Formats: sequence, structure tokens, C-alpha cells
Amino acid sequence: MKIDLHSHTTASDGRLTPHALIERAIEKGVDVLSITDHDTVAAYQQLGDLNDYPIRLIPGIEFSTQWRGVNLHVLGLNLNLSSEALNLGVAKQSAARIERSEVICKKLSKLGLNVNLKQVQKIAGKENVGRPHFAQHLIEIGAVKDMSQAFKKYLGDGKPGDVKQFWADLPQIIEWITEAGGDAVIAHPCKYKMTRTKLIALVGEFKSLGGRGIEVVSGKQPADEVKKLARICNENGLLASSGSDFHQPDTGWCEIGITAPLPKSCQPIWESWLS
Ligand code: MN
Ligand code: MN
Ligand code: MN
Repeated sequence: MKIDLHSHTTASDGRLTPHALIERAIEKGVDVLSITDHDTVAAYQQLGDLNDYPIRLIPGIEFSTQWRGVNLHVLGLNLNLSSEALNLGVAKQSAARIERSEVICKKLSKLGLNVNLKQVQKIAGKENVGRPHFAQHLIEIGAVKDMSQAFKKYLGDGKPGDVKQFWADLPQIIEWITEAGGDAVIAHPCKYKMTRTKLIALVGEFKSLGGRGIEVVSGKQPADEVKKLARICNENGLLASSGSDFHQPDTGWCEIGITAPLPKSCQPIWESWLS
């Protein structure tokens, strides 16, 4: 059985519509799929009854949060989409994203730059407004000559436009997921480049807060990372998840459904949902 529990659509920063993504997943032989857009479940609103598709769809989301200065991603899997807690969480994350872009805009304006938030939002399109979009805008209004100058002068770490995200914290994110009947999973744990000690601290705290699993297999991850994560997962009594983190075809992103198998020692998070 081919399982892919991490993918994106045009509802966030993916390039395929929810329908096109499902079609591609079926083409690639995926049996169980979760669409996990960043801080939104809007893709599912376009899909109607999930039982109408010849593929098992597991409602999911990828929440953004911070933990000890790290921008952390937490998957919520097997969610009840009509959960009030979930919908409140999505609304709060969306407000946080807008609030942050407004603060960046104000700070840059104070420096005398003629920044227009509407233009920045236009550049971002369906993506979450972030510093690269502000950088692009600064180039367009002639404030800087290129991206690198935009970050050096205005947007890089410690510069006026470096505003930390206002995301909900980790306990809150796990609570929303759990209240929606879902399982919270640490997404791509090796991507944060944490030391092993810090990662183990995260995993411990995550579990004590009600987190259920970690993404042991993520995209085109090297085999030694899979091994390391499998060990951490098992030592902490967590369940293992697997996903491609597919965003778009043919651009170096991992293809939908193409991941290494979970190590045999791991207990798959999907077992209890599918039985
Ligand atoms: Mn993404
Ligand atoms: Mn992510
Ligand atoms: Mn992702």
C-alpha cells in the first residue's frame, strides 16, 4: 500500500489544484493521501464528499509555529474538518499572518520607504506573505537593486523588517489538532538543523503536550536521517508518519507518493485509522 501523508495544493504554496493533485496521486499509485496545506484546510472545501474519490483521503493540515526560536511545522492528520477548534485555529493563524505583514509594512514605511501592502500581497498571490515578497516589492519600487540588498538593508536578521511570526505556540497547535480528533506529527524533523540534543528535547516536550508522531520519512531524505529519526521515534514511544511534501511536478520537489518505506521497527501512524 502506498501512503503519502504530506502534500500541498493551490490552497497554499502548491502548484496543483486539489483535484489535479488527487488525479496525479492516483496516477502514481497512491492509495492513501493527505493534503496538508500550510495553515489552511481550504482544499477540502473544494472536494465535497471525500468518500467520492477512488483514493482514501485523510484530512490534514501543516501548522506553522515557533519553538525555542525555530520555525517549526506540525502536521495535523486524520482531522474532523467540521471541528470548531480546528476552524478557530485556522482563522487565528490567518489573522497572525496578516498582522505580521502589516507590522513589517509599518516598520519599512517608518524608514521613509513607499511600501504598499496591497502590491506585496499581489506578489505573494496565494502564498503566505513573507519577507521574499517584501524584497521583491522593494526592488520594484526602486528602493534596492536586488534581493540580496533588500535583505542586507531591510529584511535580514536583526533588520527593521525582520519581524518574528505571530503564530500560535506549540501547546496551542497540538490542542487544536487533538480537539479536532487528529494526530499531531512533527513535520520533517531534520529540516530545522537542530542539534540532536535539541531535537530530543523537542520530541519529549511534543509528546508530553499530546503529540502523537514524527515524520520519520520525508521526501527525498537520506537513509541515515531516516534511521536516526526511526530511533528517536521508537525511543520516545511515538508513531511514525511518511510523506513526500509534494509541492509541484518536475522542479526538484519530491514526487507525490515517492518515499522510502518506513523502517520495520516503526509503528505506522495510519494503522489505527485504516483498520
Ligand atoms: Mn510549502
Ligand atoms: Mn514544512
Ligand atoms: Mn509541507
